[in-house]
Amino acid sequence: MPESKLQWIEDEIAVLKKQGLFTNIRTLESPQGARIVVNGESKLNFCSNNYLGLANDPRLKKAAQDAIERWGVGPGAVRTIAGTMSFHLELEERLAEFKGAEATISFQSGFTANLATIPALVGKGDVIFSDELNHASIIDGCRLSRAKIIPYKHNDADDLQRAVKEAKPFSKALLVTDGVFSMDGDIAPLDKLVTVAEEHNLIFMVDDAHGEGVLGHGGRGIVDHFGLHGRVDVEVGTMSKAFGVVGGYVAGKRTIVDWLRQRGRPFLFSSAVTPADVAACIAAVDILEESTDLVEKLWNNGRYFKQEMQRMGFDIGHSETPITPVMLGEATVAQKMSQRLFEEGVFATAIGFPTVPKGKARIRVMLSAAHSSADLDEALGIFKKVGQELGII
Ligand SMILES: *Cc1c(COP(=O)(O)O)cnc(C)c1O
Repeated sequence: MPESKLQWIEDEIAVLKKQGLFTNIRTLESPQGARIVVNGESKLNFCSNNYLGLANDPRLKKAAQDAIERWGVGPGAVRTIAGTMSFHLELEERLAEFKGAEATISFQSGFTANLATIPALVGKGDVIFSDELNHASIIDGCRLSRAKIIPYKHNDADDLQRAVKEAKPFSKALLVTDGVFSMDGDIAPLDKLVTVAEEHNLIFMVDDAHGEGVLGHGGRGIVDHFGLHGRVDVEVGTMSKAFGVVGGYVAGKRTIVDWLRQRGRPFLFSSAVTPADVAACIAAVDILEESTDLVEKLWNNGRYFKQEMQRMGFDIGHSETPITPVMLGEATVAQKMSQRLFEEGVFATAIGFPTVPKGKARIRVMLSAAHSSADLDEALGIFKKVGQELGII
């Protein structure tokens, strides 16, 4: 018998399991919320990106239901052929207004927004300056473009300046960074980066997936947070995190948005999100425009949780946002802790290589406006118990 041609995959999986790097995917049996049902049991949920608790909000659900009645369930075609409903344009206009941007184009996801945008802006012979810790979808977008990728040190504008000088001469160049780095919760120094971009005439793009609905006035994002309206060319956002739905978008210069309607490949060759998604997204924008309450609750929950974890002696890194990494080092320790937390009633995922560097495994705790203070106190009690049991605190 010849060895199976897929044996190597089984071998690789065995290695992952041994190293504590194999992802066991848990199945939810309830909507997203502060508490979710897994394996028939209720758990406190600390791993979703549902920052504002909108994923199961009755206003979003009602909007989606009404949209299905009026528009049906599917978009029918890619947007350039027959799949652009007036509804898709309404969402784009509402987002541009909310963000204070010239224009917006929506995509199926944040991931496809990056895949669409980067290759549309730079190509063979061009240069991309990319933060060394950028998200996988940025990295893939960069690779698809066939431009030369030059990484610079994480959040280091001086190293960027050095890299730009070394790379000269170049004709066209893009600077791209995550806004909030989701594994550590730190924020890109946009004010410093924009100065370098302006000095060297770089197209400047920020992926604000974890900043939308979180940073800036009432969740208007990282450009608003730094007061840089009009100085950042491209702001990528997602509707799948704080907005609680699904979909991605690019907000920024009208010229770029117009160009992406002609050259953004996922826009041209893949159908748009459904009417129900669009309606729910518009309802989310309505809620954020009406009040800053949810965003404030998210930040208050984050501050309280981080302060209490630190008081107990956990190493929670250097997050500047409600994302709270609990640094544990070895992947096997992080997996063990996540497992024990789960048994005690807290769902918080262990994250290891390749999502974070080797030896920097952690539990990433995601706070949400959906959590009540009783939820937070219950979780803190369980963290304390498990942390002591495993000798971490
Ligand atoms: C989550 C994330 C994405 C992907 O967004 P989706 O809408 O889920 O595809 C892209 N970029 C960054 C920085 C992210 O954190």
